[in-house]
Amino acid sequence: MRLRTLTITTLMTVIPLAKADLAVLQYHHVSDSTPAATSTTPALFEDQLEMIESLELEVVSLEKGTRAALAGELDDRKQIAITFDDAYSSVYQTAAPLLFEKGYPFTVFVNTDAVGKRGYMTWDQLAEFADQPGVLIANHSQDHGHLAQKPDEPEDQWQARITASLDQAQAALEKRLNVQEPMFAYPYGEFDDKLEQAIAERNWFGFGQQSGPIGATSGPTRLPRFPMATAYGQLDSLNDKLLSKAFPVTADQLPSAVMSDNPPELTMTLPDRLDPSRLTCFASGQGELSVQSDGKQVSMKADAAFNSRRLRYNCTYPAGDGRFYWLSHQWVDLSQPED
Ligand SMILES: [Zn+2]
Repeated sequence: MRLRTLTITTLMTVIPLAKADLAVLQYHHVSDSTPAATSTTPALFEDQLEMIESLELEVVSLEKGTRAALAGELDDRKQIAITFDDAYSSVYQTAAPLLFEKGYPFTVFVNTDAVGKRGYMTWDQLAEFADQPGVLIANHSQDHGHLAQKPDEPEDQWQARITASLDQAQAALEKRLNVQEPMFAYPYGEFDDKLEQAIAERNWFGFGQQSGPIGATSGPTRLPRFPMATAYGQLDSLNDKLLSKAFPVTADQLPSAVMSDNPPELTMTLPDRLDPSRLTCFASGQGELSVQSDGKQVSMKADAAFNSRRLRYNCTYPAGDGRFYWLSHQWVDLSQPED
């Protein structure tokens, strides 16, 4: 018996453990009859849950999983978390029963002004969720506004919007549901430096809509999630996303989320063990980016200017074992019209 224990211990120190950080899945509607850009079909949703089960992933509470991932504690565990933005009716009707059946926890981010309106969950339905041990109800603002400071917006007006979106929405969730989660999902996934600062001052986590897993290098006020609408959530790429690893460049090395030049340039320094020539990066709508390197410093810039409000540069790097380090940097162009 003693020998057996010893052998296992030795093996564990020699073989590197499979490291996978926390992959957070982001859903809106789970329905066949809602807008495709924000919907996952129920059939695909069931297939995704089956894949999660067959990979033996641990589905965890978003807050606990995020804390463990940021602390670098997930070396030998494969964890994922499931989130829904906007609290649409189909989450209550279609997605939740499937999740309860499997015993999977999940989080619903609520924009409080919309609760009870046509197509959205009611406060009673949310209260039912809040009573379930595996369900977290968290803040997605009051009015689902674009919360980065607008180019010509006076400071006091912006402050008033932030107070409504962060604090009044939080107070409404506490009053109606008796919940106080330290988590916020940015409407449209948009944030600027000052909004990140406002989240940090409240000691909250801020979740975006740029892809990638959460790990020790992630920034707590710009946490990535993998969008799972039907166009993005297909099974052939889901495996890579579920098992992805946080990119080994710390978030404080990355630029502001607000674009100052168009096209923007992304520059970062890779750790010594990474070879710049193995980095593959793409830009929204412009295909593969050519990556320039000078030693371990890499930079990339799309060929043409963008004319969309939000765009991303996504990079992957083979991490061994068929897995990838995954980074998505989002920019918002505040000069473009709001959607
Ligand atoms: Zn939303």
